[in-house]
Amino acid sequence: MTTPAPQSLTTSLMRGLHGKCPACNEGPIFRAHLKVADRCSKCAEDFHHHRADDFPAYIVILILGHILVPLVMFTEKHFSPPYIFHVLVWPPVAVGLAWLMLQPVKGMVVALQWHMGLHGFDEARKKRLG
Ligand SMILES: [Zn+2]
Repeated sequence: MTTPAPQSLTTSLMRGLHGKCPACNEGPIFRAHLKVADRCSKCAEDFHHHRADDFPAYIVILILGHILVPLVMFTEKHFSPPYIFHVLVWPPVAVGLAWLMLQPVKGMVVALQWHMGLHGFDEARKKRLG
C-alpha cells in the first residue's frame, strides 16, 4: 500500500467525485455503477469497510429537490402545460438525474469517510498521517 502525502479534504472529495481512489487518484473506487470496490486496483487501499449506506441518496434527494421543484413551478407558471405533461416529463427527469448523480455523490461520501478516518478507514488514516 502506498502512503501518499497528507492532502486536503477538497482533493479527497474531488477524487471521490470523479470515481477515483482518494489515496492515489488512479484506481477506480467503483467496480459497478454503485458498487464500491473492495480495494483500489492500483494502490490496494481498502474500501470494503466504507459505510455510505443511504447518505448519498439523501444528498441526491436534497439537491434534486432544490433543482426540480423550482423548475416545475417555473414551467407551470410561465407555460401552464396540461397536467399530463407533468406526469410524463418530471418523473423520468428525476429518476435520470438521480441515476447520474448517485455515483459521484457516493464517491464523495466514501472519500469523505476515507479522509476523516471514519469506520474502518482509521488504520489507513493513521498510516497515511504517520
Ligand atoms: Zn488507489
